[in-house]
Parts: sequence; structure tokens; C-alpha cells
Amino acid sequence: MSTATLTIDLPALTANWTALANMGRAEPGAVVKANAYGLGAGRVGRALAKAGARTFFVAVAEEGAALRQALGPGPVIYILSGHMAGDADMLGDMDLTPILNSLDQMIRHLEALPGHPFGLQLDTGMNRLGMEPSEWAAVRDIALAQDPQLIISHLACADEPDAPMNTDQLARFRQMTSGLDCPLSLANTGGILLNRAYHFDVTRPGIGMYGGLPFDNARPVVTLDIPVIQCRDVAPGDAVGYGRAWIAQRPSRIATLSTGYADGILRCLGDRISVWADDVRCPVVGRISMDLIGVDVTDTASDPKSVSLLGPQQGVDTLADAAGTIGYEILTSLGERYTRRYLGG
Ligand SMILES: *Cc1c(COP(=O)(O)O)cnc(C)c1O
Repeated sequence: MSTATLTIDLPALTANWTALANMGRAEPGAVVKANAYGLGAGRVGRALAKAGARTFFVAVAEEGAALRQALGPGPVIYILSGHMAGDADMLGDMDLTPILNSLDQMIRHLEALPGHPFGLQLDTGMNRLGMEPSEWAAVRDIALAQDPQLIISHLACADEPDAPMNTDQLARFRQMTSGLDCPLSLANTGGILLNRAYHFDVTRPGIGMYGGLPFDNARPVVTLDIPVIQCRDVAPGDAVGYGRAWIAQRPSRIATLSTGYADGILRCLGDRISVWADDVRCPVVGRISMDLIGVDVTDTASDPKSVSLLGPQQGVDTLADAAGTIGYEILTSLGERYTRRYLGG
């Protein structure tokens, strides 16, 4: 088999969720949008439910429907994009709770699904989703009369503890929700790590559960092992891969691996990362192709059968740094072609 194996350590993932939960007294939700950041929303959701999660967040109704099928009845599934045209049947049939972002969405929801639970999102300065203060002032009484399940807002700079935006948004959220007895939610992973003032009633951890920054005490969750398809000797002066981008300086042994940029190993990582054959570092050589990567295995005792691209020596955030991006993008780009294998859960 030439497909790579992405191993997802569910006990590590739920331990991260529990560690974030234990930083305060709020009810810990769990953000499993984008197929649980690429790791598999069904298996991840079930593991979290078993660990005690009762409140889940996804981006769109279709993700919510798939999650409901995996979890069964019981847990609350919030839809962050709210109630879009055409969503009513799915929201109703699958018992999904939209977080309404605007007056338009509120009207649509109350007309299409009267009495069906909903949440609300307020914009406290990010200017992405949610009602702005003036809109909120206009609809607040109508909305509250319908008994919203949760009122949320989202932090723009939670991963920068010193950003004045955090305290600005906290103050605005408090102002916009003062005097309400509805449950409130503001904190993503970064917000949980800021301090308890940001936790309110329900937290919304995502990346920290999956082992990514800014939760620097997270247990690593993913490892990626890639089969070697072929090894060859390359003489000094010979090149490897497209564009002759790497030239051997010594007699070299080159392994060709079964993964590439189509699997989320971004092409720009070409000369910046390595893989590991047990403890031996094997630098990537030449350009990353769509389905193939060359690595220098000259220093290994024998030709490896497979190598590790994500693991204890090189985590998601190391790859992210090398690519000039964030762990979120690395995780959500990891290829559909990988065989996903789950530990525990
Ligand atoms: C994605 C998302 C989260 C989770 O954020 P992390 O930084 O991954 O913890 C929380 N709330 C909202 C509204 C989101 O879109």
C-alpha cells in the first residue's frame, strides 16, 4: 500500500480538551468544524462525547448533519454560519442549532422554524460574523423574547495576549450582554489561555485540542508516516526532481516518498523540512511534486521502508513555521488520500 498513514491519538486529543476545560469553570464545548480540523469529525466527536463534551460547534449545516449522525441524539450542535436559505429542513430534521448572525437570519429562522432553538452571535470588533451594536440594539428585545440558547462573540487576536483588542472585545461583549441571563461564550483556545475573565459560561476550544499553538502544553495528536516507494544512488553533480532544484554534493542515497503537495505538504516546504527514519534526520531534496517527495537517506543504516513527516521530532507548528503559515492550515490541508488511523477512543 502506498498511501501514507495519518495516526490520530484520540486519548491525547481528549486529554488536551480536558486540560483546557480544567483552566476554568465554564462548560467546555468543542469546535469540530472542517471535519475536526481535518482529523475526522465523526471519530473525534464521538471520542469527545465519551470524554464528556455536550456542546459542539461546526461551521455549516451540512457538517452538523454529519456530526449528528455520528453522535446520535443528545449533544447540542451549533452551526456557526447560522441559518442560511435552504437550511431549514436540515436544521429541523437533524436537531441543529444555528447561531444567528444578523437580523435577516433571525427573521428567516423565526419564520421557517418557529420554536426551534437558536443562538446569537454579536460582533465585538472582528467584523466577520455577528450583529453589530446598533443592529443588536434594534433586535435585542425580540431576540431575547424567543429565548436564545447561547450568545457568542469571537476574538480576533486571542493568540496575542498583549493585544489591546482582547480587552476591547471583552469590554464590548460585556456591554452588549449586560443584564442578560442567557449563557455566554467568547473564548476559543487562545481566549481560554488569556484568563478566566474570557471564559464566561461555555468555551469553544479548537486548535488546542488538536495539539496546536497557542496551547503550548498540548500533547501532540497527529503523526504522519509515509511509505518509501523507491531508493536510488545519485552521483555528485546529478540532480533530483523538477527543475534540477537540488544537486548532489556527495554520493547520495535518495528515497522517493508517496506524498506531495496534493496531500497538503505545501510545495514551498521543499528545502525547509526533513523527515525521520527512526532517529535519523533525512532532509527533503528538490521540489515537492504533486504526489512524490525526494529525501536524502544517505545517513541511514539501511533503506527505510517508511519515514515520519509529523511526529515527535517535527510537529504541526514546525511545518507551519517553515511554510510561513499556522498549524490550523497545515492540519486542515492534510490530504484526503491519507489513511486515517485512530488510537483509543
Ligand atoms: C474556529 C472557531 C473557534 C475555535 O478556535 P481555535 O482558535 O481553533 O480554538 C471558536 N469559535 C469560533 C467562532 C470559530 O470560528
